[in-house]
Amino acid sequence: MPNNLHNKVSLVTGAASGIGRATALAFAKEGSKVVVSDVRSEGGEETTSLIKDMGGESLFVHADVSRSDHVENLISSVIRHYGRLDCSFNNAGVSGGSGLIHEYSEDDWDKVININLKGVWLCLKYEIIQMLKQGGGSIVNTASIMGLVGGSRSPSYGASKHGVVGLTKNAAVQYAPSNIRVNAVCPGYIRTPMTEQGALLDPDNAERIISRHPLGRLGTPEEIADTVVWLSSDAASFVTGHTMTVDGGYVAQ
Ligand code: NAD
Repeated sequence: MPNNLHNKVSLVTGAASGIGRATALAFAKEGSKVVVSDVRSEGGEETTSLIKDMGGESLFVHADVSRSDHVENLISSVIRHYGRLDCSFNNAGVSGGSGLIHEYSEDDWDKVININLKGVWLCLKYEIIQMLKQGGGSIVNTASIMGLVGGSRSPSYGASKHGVVGLTKNAAVQYAPSNIRVNAVCPGYIRTPMTEQGALLDPDNAERIISRHPLGRLGTPEEIADTVVWLSSDAASFVTGHTMTVDGGYVAQ
């Protein structure tokens, strides 16, 4: 799909590493200008440099997606620099550690819900305000297989990702008449800093996780990025409200 996003303006949150960084690079390879955003400035600036090294156009904007003032400023910065916003990938998220519901702390619950769910809603809100003004756009939210089935080690993570799936469908129906498509991608276990510093740390647990994927391996950030590029592009022009699994067959069982 060369240059499928030529002259488009894209935004990726949580783009300092992992799936977000891979998708920012994939958007740039397709010819899009890319606004990279994250709470971690060093990693975000690094992603921007990687895009510029490829000959692409990119800008880093620091934002904590759980804060409405940050998200409002993020979208204003996109418009100030590039004049419009065609594709948004609302991807920032945290894993929330592990624990049983009856042992889980209220602080951990609030933190994960505020970043993973409220953060997606705030991004949708300000992105949609802009997309309504310009007559359309495409948005992809990062949910998870844990937004479709039970089994998350963190109760708030599973709840937040089920929330993202619901929010995605609701937004898709509300804004289809305004030419705004909203989809979600539901990755299986992907090798990124989040899983390398979490679920995959214990080799026995890593083996158990891999064995749950019928394709017999973990996914790569690039495999999610390719899916997000497709969902964002005109190749998916009749796709909205979809929760697309990219999970090696995990939820097909
Ligand atoms: P990652 O840790 O590499 O990336 C997450 C990014 O989000 C980081 O750069 C982090 O700094 C950023 N972030 C965290 N809190 C933020 C906040 N408040 N505001 C802005 N940015 C913030 O991990 P990843 O695996 O690439 O995760 C990306 C997304 O994919 C997350 O939403 C995660 O839940 C989801 N996901 C990951 C997997 C997996 O197996 N890795 C599976 C399913 C879904």
